[in-house]
Amino acid sequence: MYRLVCVSCGAEYPPDEIIYHCRKCGHLLAVQYDLTDLEIDPAVWRSRPLSVWRYKELLPVTIPPVTLAEGGTPLYHLERLGKSMGLRHLYAKHEGMNPSGSFKDRGMTVGVSMALQLRRTSVACASTGNTSASLAVYGAKAGIPAVVLLPAGKVALGKVAQALMHGAKVISIRGNFDRALEMVHDLCISHGLYLLNSVNPYRLEGQKTIGFEAIDQLGCVPDRFVLPVGNAGNISAVHKGLIELVALGLIDRYPMMTGIQAAGSAPVVRAIEENLPEVIPEPHPDTVATAIRIGAPVNAEKALTAIRKTGGLAASVTDEEILKMQRDLARIEGIGVEPASAASVAGVRKLVTEGRIDRDEKIVCVVTGHLLKDPETVIRQCEPPIEIDADLPSLLSALHL
Ligand SMILES: *Cc1c(COP(=O)(O)O)cnc(C)c1O
Ligand SMILES: [Zn+2]
Repeated sequence: MYRLVCVSCGAEYPPDEIIYHCRKCGHLLAVQYDLTDLEIDPAVWRSRPLSVWRYKELLPVTIPPVTLAEGGTPLYHLERLGKSMGLRHLYAKHEGMNPSGSFKDRGMTVGVSMALQLRRTSVACASTGNTSASLAVYGAKAGIPAVVLLPAGKVALGKVAQALMHGAKVISIRGNFDRALEMVHDLCISHGLYLLNSVNPYRLEGQKTIGFEAIDQLGCVPDRFVLPVGNAGNISAVHKGLIELVALGLIDRYPMMTGIQAAGSAPVVRAIEENLPEVIPEPHPDTVATAIRIGAPVNAEKALTAIRKTGGLAASVTDEEILKMQRDLARIEGIGVEPASAASVAGVRKLVTEGRIDRDEKIVCVVTGHLLKDPETVIRQCEPPIEIDADLPSLLSALHL
């Protein structure tokens, strides 16, 4: 059993209530389980396939879930890239290997299942791209209509392609993501669509399983988790999951939660660096990493807590550093990710160089989305293919042989 609890004032709401903000103070709500009631046997968990649903006792869904086998993503040891930074234990959890190519699927399998459990008949979200792709996929699987709002001209091509192909109603607004979120929120409140942005407490429940899986795959608790931060839902979700594992006695310490933002869109980093009690929104966020191009992160409060309570770090990286790391991951490790995902590993490189990360640490970087999400940014960085006449001498000449 669980309740919805306000993250700020602690007000409680029943699980079947459709509510996104506390009626007393306006803050977000979180799912709180009665952990003393839960019977969790790690051996039973391990007997199930590695996936979001391995951990179903710590998820709110009681109906058969809307699932496409999400989670169970590979944890890669970055031997060569790590060595180049002087790190022996650098890992990447490749969330691009989810059904729609990003970690958003972990949230959506739970969120869309909850939409059905709560008897909703349509779903909606605002998105920098991946949330819309994922909602379109899970709306299709559930057989209910999905509406997605995108900031016009600022969404990577692969993500729009997915949202369209999977049959969502795709609306492009002349405004940024933060405005799209306000609009979809108003729409859901006035017209009863079920809102599946990361203000939705159930999505984060699915996303927390990234941390569970990484610990299971590593066989121990890493010293540090590093995540790219946009709306700050994912870093908050992973931290929430860890709190539950500690409360259950399944782990005995916290990894240092570390958030990386793009330099042109870094309100969380600024709040950490200047020790501000809350985030000051960035009115004109800008970065090539469109998935984290967010100026007013809705989960910022929780992210600040996660970073501060675990002795973690926050750092920003330039677009150049992000793209360099995207290429290095692709060419040195064979791991293809979109720019926002490369931000986490680029952040590690920067923090190591600055001497703020110990070289003996076991570090898990969450790389959040697949390379093919944003083909245009890839093509811009690469030399075009060499076109030749269809004969062997031309081929040998092109290969300098
Ligand atoms: C959504 C997303 C992020 C940011 O996650 P938040 O929960 O918004 O902080 C980072 N990378 C990719 C690829 C994403 O799709
Ligand atoms: Zn409250």
